[in-house]
Amino acid sequence: MVNQTKFQVLENKCTSCVKCSLSTTRQNVVFGRGNPDAELFIIGEGPGQQEDEQGLAFVGRAGKMLDAAFSAVGLDTNKDCYVSNIVKCRPPNNRKPSTTEIEACMPWLNEQVNLLKPKIIILAGSTAVQSFLGINEPISKIRGQWIEKDNIKYMPIFHPSYLLRNPSKNKGKPKWLTWQDLKKVKKELISI
Ligand code: URA
Repeated sequence: MVNQTKFQVLENKCTSCVKCSLSTTRQNVVFGRGNPDAELFIIGEGPGQQEDEQGLAFVGRAGKMLDAAFSAVGLDTNKDCYVSNIVKCRPPNNRKPSTTEIEACMPWLNEQVNLLKPKIIILAGSTAVQSFLGINEPISKIRGQWIEKDNIKYMPIFHPSYLLRNPSKNKGKPKWLTWQDLKKVKKELISI
């Protein structure tokens, strides 16, 4: 529990953030959930309605899908991971966060990464990949491939909302591909 207090201090500061206009429409700041000492950091796009109401990341339908996908490879998102988003406040009507909002929020995410010092970062969906790594390739092209930067291994995966819209588990389909991607992550985690 090395990082718990540091994360709590950072969350307290983040809770009063007014650096962009999302602060005027949010119900709660969604700082993150999970284990602040985990080696695995999962980063999504931004909070949805459930997350905004509860103040916790990935607790709605997409969150349940995320949990199930990780559970399928023996990983518990609350114990083995820390889970957060590119923006910490819900964009109205679940629209994509704007560049201004992403830039305003990025210092919080950078501080989370600095505290956590994760070995692996999972980027869920193209917004996370674009915002964090500046890579604009479609997620379907880059998912499943390790990207190494500053001693951190990044694994882009499909966003769980996309898996909700594509429920087939057949070989070659998005859910099956995500399972392959997460098996790679599990293997890497064991070997570290
Ligand atoms: N979608 C995200 O990207 N993040 C959440 O926390 C919930 C849904």
